Amino acid sequence: MYVLGIESTAHTFGAGIVEDGKVLSNERDTLKPASGGIVPREAAAHHYRLASTILKNALDSAGIGLKDVDLIGFSQGPGLIPALKVGAQVSAYLSEKYMIRRVGVNHCIAHLEIARACTGIDDPVMLYVSGGNTQVITYLGGRYVVFGETEDIGVGNLIDKIGRRMGIPFPAGPKIEKLAAAGKKYSSLPYSVKGMDVSFSGIETYVSRMPGKDSAEDVAFSLQETVFAMLIEASERAMAYCKKDSLVITGGVAANARLNEMGSVMCRERSARFERIPLEYAGDNGAMIAHTAYLMRDYKQNDFVVKPRYRTDMVEITYR
Ligand code: AMP
Ligand code: MG
Repeated sequence: MYVLGIESTAHTFGAGIVEDGKVLSNERDTLKPASGGIVPREAAAHHYRLASTILKNALDSAGIGLKDVDLIGFSQGPGLIPALKVGAQVSAYLSEKYMIRRVGVNHCIAHLEIARACTGIDDPVMLYVSGGNTQVITYLGGRYVVFGETEDIGVGNLIDKIGRRMGIPFPAGPKIEKLAAAGKKYSSLPYSVKGMDVSFSGIETYVSRMPGKDSAEDVAFSLQETVFAMLIEASERAMAYCKKDSLVITGGVAANARLNEMGSVMCRERSARFERIPLEYAGDNGAMIAHTAYLMRDYKQNDFVVKPRYRTDMVEITYR
């Protein structure tokens, strides 16, 4: 069975093909604004412009045509409404034209499912860290239950905002990671973990008012050490509370080596298992949507409206 997955929730338009759960192709392009952050309608314009090329590349590198596709999955939410509509409309068009069944996929669950598939860990606590989302999740009673989450902005968003102030264009994560690796001096930043929830906006304000004595490297270093420690503390608490003995980290920020290192040290200290997900599947991509649509292949769905606030725990999971 060939499944096409379409991702368009935010900055990235992606298309991927899986055959019976095996990834055949994963093509994408991310909007990189010349200045400032992501403007929803600019993201949508980017996606409309590139959709057909990315789709064609995904089909070509999988070695199939649209008439071979058995099921289409699209990212139904959460995300930016104009961006979400592109994936919904492209999938609706293809579904009508080629008579292919379609399922709407929760974007956060796709990040979780690709992480389970890549690491081979069946039932971990999952730290889901991306631009807009930060959640500590595990599977319980037919749902992905959110045990902890950000009370304000997503961790990627914090990194991007601080990066922007330092003159680093979106997405700032990779550059901040490089700078941090050269940092030497730690300045303490507001550390805010409440149970399994975290809060980041105080750090943004604090950094914006720092007197400028710290070098860019040291600011990046202090930032990473503080926020990653918060995230790993919340994850460890969830592991203890839910009695789970493994952790995976997924989402765009899961590309960060230091975050993975902290996760792996914490797991080693409590004799738990930790596996890093491959870089290719950390950030938004079409293959994770195709993979999750494949898992959902028996779902009977007729509500295809985009859901900008589609929460991880709203979805009833019937395939596990
Ligand atoms: P996503 O929305 O899941 O594609 O994640 C995008 C977010 O991941 C953006 O906020 C990026 O800045 C962030 N990101 C990407 N690479 C890294 C990295 N190496 N370290 C930290 N954050 C990163
Ligand atoms: Mg994402």
